[in-house]
Amino acid sequence: MRIAVIGTGYVGLVSAACFAELGHTVIGVDIDEEKVKKLQTGKPTIYEPGLEEILNRGLQSGRLSFTTNIAEALPNTSVVFSAVATPPNEDYTADLRAVFTVAETIAKNADKDTVFVNKSTVPVGTGKDCEEKIAAILKDRGIDIHIPVISNPEFLREGTAVKDTMNPDRVVVGINGDEWAKEMMDELYQPVLRTGRPLVHMSRESAELVKYASNSFLATKISFINMLSHFCEVTGANVRDVARGMGLDDRIGPRFLHAGIGYGGSCFPKDVKALIAMSRHFDVPLPLVDATLEINQQQRLRFFQKLLNSLPEGSTVGVWGLSFKPKTDDLREAPSLDLIPMLQRCKHTVRVHDPIAMDNAKKLLGDDVIFTNSPMEAATEADAVILLTEWDVFRGVDMNELKAVMRGNALFDGRNVYEIEEVEEAGLSYHGIGIPHSKE
Ligand code: NAD
Repeated sequence: MRIAVIGTGYVGLVSAACFAELGHTVIGVDIDEEKVKKLQTGKPTIYEPGLEEILNRGLQSGRLSFTTNIAEALPNTSVVFSAVATPPNEDYTADLRAVFTVAETIAKNADKDTVFVNKSTVPVGTGKDCEEKIAAILKDRGIDIHIPVISNPEFLREGTAVKDTMNPDRVVVGINGDEWAKEMMDELYQPVLRTGRPLVHMSRESAELVKYASNSFLATKISFINMLSHFCEVTGANVRDVARGMGLDDRIGPRFLHAGIGYGGSCFPKDVKALIAMSRHFDVPLPLVDATLEINQQQRLRFFQKLLNSLPEGSTVGVWGLSFKPKTDDLREAPSLDLIPMLQRCKHTVRVHDPIAMDNAKKLLGDDVIFTNSPMEAATEADAVILLTEWDVFRGVDMNELKAVMRGNALFDGRNVYEIEEVEEAGLSYHGIGIPHSKE
């Protein structure tokens, strides 16, 4: 099948490369000329395991190409995916300008029946709004073609995006009528369905909500254990033991029950906020979602404040990890972007290391930050070290070596990954989340 993918960011690029890998002919479209030029030469614009290989295989096979010109992509295409960003506005609503621009561009340029598939995360009712905008333009053009709008939310996770796309837990297709478009979607996903993965049909409104509901539920699980972590600190319980005891219950499960400095990234924060905005819009309270956001914001600040309170004037702090989670170079809503300016405002020296995200971070953090080549170099002469992202390279550090390079001895474990005994045996003082201090 011939398809176009509009927007070649994290979702669009991975989707385009995976669809080509599955045998479809795909043209990726982006307004960012630099990005398109890079992709045309086989260089991925994001870090994602396995992406470079399938990108190049797609280009070499001739099944994958990139352009900045949507009009060039449409004539040979029967299905157009939109994977543009929907970032949060100040008032938590989703910024839908890019989605509407894509819908309008398709309506202005299509000359035959075309299925418009929205992969972006959008509030309930956005598909209907797109359809109305498209219909108005087609009417103005006086052209009798049909462009149904389908919701096909994306569930890939950065860091495992290729794997998730090739082996999704489920494919959700939201469609109101249009048997022809439904058949197109079934055919498109046939290679994935053949591996036994389920495709679930539902109304467009339900599909739009599934994505927000899933992300908000996972974020709620994280905020629940983070809320308990504070309670553990006060009561002397250990949140790791509590989480393990809970997670072994099949009905609960161990995932997303890891206390830490809270969730970040491009999806959980924005999707929780957008669901809150929707609840305001429809005037239906969703108090659990409100609490999820509030706990997440407090959790991060509470831990950072603990670090700041412990630092004498003019300290040096080693920051381990800049991306919002391991195996990605994405810094959107990363804790590092909150903490580092706080440290700088207090005139502390900041030494950082991240295995992948330093180039992106350099564009955002300014010249005062010292970028280093290894965890130990970031920790050198530091009064305190704080782990923000649990990359493997930080998990495996030798605590004795760490103690030897530091000036002070405080290790702040924002991801609760270190063993307190091992840290303390090396002469370091351990500050975790929801974990009682053994020697205080
Ligand atoms: P992104 O910012 O990485 O990519 C968006 C791309 O769209 C950019 O390359 C941008 O240049 C391009 N673009 C913007 N306007 C355009 C236009 N008019 N025509 C062509 N290209 C245009 O965003 P992303 O992280 O890939 O997210 C895309 C959507 O998918 C969002 O709604 C997001 O919530 C959702 N989503 C993201 C993830 C994730 O992990 N990043 C996972 C699931 C769902």
